[in-house]
Amino acid sequence: MPTLRVCSLYPELMNIYADRGNIAVLRARCEWRGLGFEHSAASLREPLDANAHDLFYMGGGQDRDQIAVAHDMAETKRVALHEAADRGAVVLAVCGGYQLLGHSYEMGGEELPGVGLVDLRTVREPGPRLIGNCAIEADLGGGPRVIAGFENHGGRTYLGDGERPLGRVLSGHGNNDRDGFEGVHRDNVIGTYLHGPLLPKNIWLADRLIELALGIELEPLPDDDLERGAHASARRAAGV
Ligand code: GLN
Repeated sequence: MPTLRVCSLYPELMNIYADRGNIAVLRARCEWRGLGFEHSAASLREPLDANAHDLFYMGGGQDRDQIAVAHDMAETKRVALHEAADRGAVVLAVCGGYQLLGHSYEMGGEELPGVGLVDLRTVREPGPRLIGNCAIEADLGGGPRVIAGFENHGGRTYLGDGERPLGRVLSGHGNNDRDGFEGVHRDNVIGTYLHGPLLPKNIWLADRLIELALGIELEPLPDDDLERGAHASARRAAGV
């Protein structure tokens, strides 16, 4: 049986809404199917082996923690992350992590570097934080599905021309509260503002990421039907 090898980036710094719960879901969904699961972490000053992991994960974080993380990631992990993404490893980044996937995060006169895996910029503009429940419609193969979550970000993210969002906002603010899009999706690199944590709220997405990371097709688990029902009622409640 294949083993999903997951690497958490900066887990003690980038975990603002218990985003590490995403790892628990990946582990459970693998183990319930008899797949292997390995989890390791890479934090400040630790190098990254591009070939040792199938899925790289980074959660959300506060601006002050993002400063140290952004510089460290650009210096010690950028090259390995590009190599990993090029060979099809999944990179999943939530909120503060998502903001560091692009070119830069500009806040308070400081420009933090991103790792440049995707073409986007994030700017801390004047205006309220974008907070609340959010639902988007995304297609990761197999047709459009709802991803539900909670967003809380001061930064506004703008995708470059030709870069694809993860989804269309059904309810909530999304990347910048203007263009109606949320997140980014290029090959197996996915960024999103949605906490929840993300994967406990959207188990279909956890399964899809496992499939993409391992290049396999999974059999449904019994709770998949329950989730489809929950999402149908979420769509009705959102009036979509
Ligand atoms: N610090 C970032 C912002 O406020 C990200 C916050 C988060 O991860 N929830 O935009």
